[in-house]
Amino acid sequence: MSEHISTRHCIVCQKIIRGRSDKKFCNDNCRNQFNNAHKPSSNSCVKGINQALFRNRNILESLLPPSTPAIKQSREKLLEKGFQFRYFTHQLSNTSGKGYVFCYDFGYQVVGEDDCIIIRQDTNEQPAII
Ligand SMILES: [Zn+2]
Repeated sequence: MSEHISTRHCIVCQKIIRGRSDKKFCNDNCRNQFNNAHKPSSNSCVKGINQALFRNRNILESLLPPSTPAIKQSREKLLEKGFQFRYFTHQLSNTSGKGYVFCYDFGYQVVGEDDCIIIRQDTNEQPAII
């Protein structure tokens, strides 16, 4: 009996694959390309965090009127809107040493037990990075 030989094509570039019949890719390039495009776990993790950061930023923006440089809001209010305190992009401190936590261009400082002061990042005066 002769062995049945099926023609196999690279699932990335459709080139005919030579060699072992269990190969899915014609070369390492195609393998890498495929693997990079199909990383469901790490991709969805990155997407989820990006969404959380964007949502945090939009919540801060929605609570700070455009003409107001800073406003006090309760932590409760932020949480109510879905703010996730564990996600932020960077931290800065101003000249008096007070630390702000930022989600992109909007930041907050926790004051007391239950309040936050929300600010937008001052692009003219860059505070020192912690
Ligand atoms: Zn290929």
